[in-house]
Amino acid sequence: MEFTTRPRPQAEGPHVIADVLYAGICGSDLHQYRGGSGPRRPPLILGHEAVVSVEGRDGMFVVFPLVCCGECDACVRGEENLCERRGLIGLDRPGVFADSVMVAEAALVAVPDGMDPRVAVLTEPLAASVSALRIAGMTASTRLAVIGCGPIGLMAVHAAAHAGAHPIVADPLASRREIALRLGAQEALSDPTQLSSQGADIVVDAAGIEAAWGAAVAAVRSGGCVVVLGLAQAEGTVPVGALVRRGITLRGHYAYTRADFEAALRLLAASPPPLDWLDFAGLADGAESFRRIVHSPEKVTKVILTTDRAARGNRAATERSEVVHPRAGGEEAGHRSAPSRTTVSAQ
Ligand SMILES: [Zn+2]
Ligand SMILES: [Zn+2]
Repeated sequence: MEFTTRPRPQAEGPHVIADVLYAGICGSDLHQYRGGSGPRRPPLILGHEAVVSVEGRDGMFVVFPLVCCGECDACVRGEENLCERRGLIGLDRPGVFADSVMVAEAALVAVPDGMDPRVAVLTEPLAASVSALRIAGMTASTRLAVIGCGPIGLMAVHAAAHAGAHPIVADPLASRREIALRLGAQEALSDPTQLSSQGADIVVDAAGIEAAWGAAVAAVRSGGCVVVLGLAQAEGTVPVGALVRRGITLRGHYAYTRADFEAALRLLAASPPPLDWLDFAGLADGAESFRRIVHSPEKVTKVILTTDRAARGNRAATERSEVVHPRAGGEEAGHRSAPSRTTVSAQ
């Protein structure tokens, strides 16, 4: 990762240049940093979770980061998260770990007046959980288990607790179990194999490893559903015999629809979670933040990168015209506007 200065992007087509205030580092941003393979091709500005402002407009916006065609069968079915021509900011186009980012006009979702942008920046990870729980049919009386208490698992706990279902969670890190309990989990275990056998109607796997798939199948009741959101391991063994004999649904789920995303923002506005489990760091500390999440997961659960603009309370920089010293020969002094700074993947 490196921190560089680049010219501010120019808007093209139905796009606007948005000024980034807060940007969350997602587990998926870390995937290739950890050495895994995946669709992110460097050099690339990473990041898809952001609260932004747009010059000349009131208020703030959350960026809906999926780019969907609106025309393919999946989009027509209302499953735009499965769009055949799906794109994602920070994956196949420049992301939000920068002072400014080009986004489609339609990607801007207004943050309700008075809402803390540090809460609104959790919309994207919460939307993934809201979507998964909707698909799995969770209600207030659902017996829910969540395996893995990274940001997605924790947001699943928050969404479930808001709906009245208080899950049992499992995570090896005591610090994350403690956060889960504060967000509304009824019980927190260190190992998913401790979940009571066939005791859950729905199990959310927010870890995404073979051990979690097996534990989830053991913990779900016959006829229940396991939703896999985590993607730490792409292939492995699943106990298919149990799936068949006990009529278990095992399904993967990717991202969220626009409706899920807006529902997540409303949920956060109505029920803001505590923020003390988040780490806030300046954009210039982006690379160091990646290192800390990967190497000190017991200390750092999620980092939100903060731009200078957020630090100034969403005010534009006071005009900064640098006078370039005239070259010998006495040419006119020129101006340079403040360039845009970015955190760029350099792997
Ligand atoms: Zn994310
Ligand atoms: Zn489509």
